[in-house]
Amino acid sequence: QAFLARIDRLDGDLNSFISVTAEQALVEADRADAARAAGNIGPLTGVPLALKDLFCTEGVKTSAGSRMLDNFIAPYDATVVEKLRAAGTVSLGKTNMDEFAMGSSNENSFYGPVRNPWDPAAVPGGSSGGSAAAVAAGLVPAAMGTDTGGSIRQPAAFCGITGLKPTYGRVSRYGIIAYASSLDQAGPMARTAEDCAHLLGAIAGHDLRDSTSVARGVPDYTQELDTPLAGLKIGLPKEYFGDGLDPAVESAIREAVKVFESLGATVREISLPHTHYAIPAYYVIAPAEASSNLARYDGVRFGHRCNAPEDLMDLYKRSRAEGFGEEVKRRILMGTHTLSEGFFDAYYKKAQQVRRLIRQDFLDAFDEVDVLMGPASPTPAFDLGARKDPVSMYLQDIYTIAINLAGIPGISVPAGFAGGRPAEGRPVGLQILGAHFAEARLLNVAHQFQ
Ligand code: GLN
Repeated sequence: QAFLARIDRLDGDLNSFISVTAEQALVEADRADAARAAGNIGPLTGVPLALKDLFCTEGVKTSAGSRMLDNFIAPYDATVVEKLRAAGTVSLGKTNMDEFAMGSSNENSFYGPVRNPWDPAAVPGGSSGGSAAAVAAGLVPAAMGTDTGGSIRQPAAFCGITGLKPTYGRVSRYGIIAYASSLDQAGPMARTAEDCAHLLGAIAGHDLRDSTSVARGVPDYTQELDTPLAGLKIGLPKEYFGDGLDPAVESAIREAVKVFESLGATVREISLPHTHYAIPAYYVIAPAEASSNLARYDGVRFGHRCNAPEDLMDLYKRSRAEGFGEEVKRRILMGTHTLSEGFFDAYYKKAQQVRRLIRQDFLDAFDEVDVLMGPASPTPAFDLGARKDPVSMYLQDIYTIAINLAGIPGISVPAGFAGGRPAEGRPVGLQILGAHFAEARLLNVAHQFQ
């Protein structure tokens, strides 16, 4: 009730929620109380949280930030939602996001932009901007996001919270509205790595309903949090400290790295030579998969349908023209183009080959070092409306996107403020990357820093 009251008081300005499900929340809270009274208590019993509005939640609107799904009430729960409920958490509602998770600023939402709680002139990042802002403003202690090219880590960085993108396949995608299926992964956003460790433990695991989820045991992610970092080998990818990196962000990151040195870690420079191909490869692969995933929104089975269609073609055309926003249409066009006969080999196939090289860069790096560190984003949160040109928005993802192409995990942790204290600057996120399934290590390293 305290969190619901806080949402009521503050979210009119922030706009971080699309739906607040107060009634269901109180029922779930009663259930958690009963479990507690029966002595049935886990680390997450009764913990309130919020879900990005692309996790299907039975009986609740699940919009993906789109007019297309403004009328869609999900008929079933995503695996993540089912697991969180089984762990005793209480969902307070569904958070705002860029439409179909396409964006880096939350400005592409049908429900309007979200404001950054540190500075209302700034964006919260995207696409999980609502989840990040809600946690940063203390409207919920934790929230779920998804990350296809940075959508957990970049908003976590912009809002000064901790956000973890797990290894591809670690968390089931069943019931999560798909953007780019070979890249999408769900993960926790919270204040600390310790909170993220509890949440990841609850949502990870094999799921027969997602054939890409990995059949591999789920460790207790809290177990290694206190392991000392003496002897930890840290690599700094030189490509993540080059042109375009805001000097205030760079100095915050270099200060953070010194903290690890003081904890006994060693630091060396590493090269990820194919980094500059990550954005072009991603912006071929992700829109291609999106154009295929979004073909199902045809006005026939569910979602927005235009008024009084003249015939089937008119129904398709107008329903999609009205239901999708500009950025989504741009990506459907790009994706359809690169998958067309005659273009497939030149674009899609080539991008997949480049993806392989990018992945190999990381595998080679993890032969040399335990973790990689760098900024989560080249700049702190920018102003609402400041990036009008789509390409400048895409370039924003330079440090997060390669990680999804490689399938490895990454975490963003708060690393101070660009330009000093909170009043003078905006939050900076330190990104820590590890080999496939090294989540426990990442959480350990992040926890020692916090
Ligand atoms: N900003 C990237 C995009 O627009 C990544 C989004 C995401 O991770 N969902 O595609």
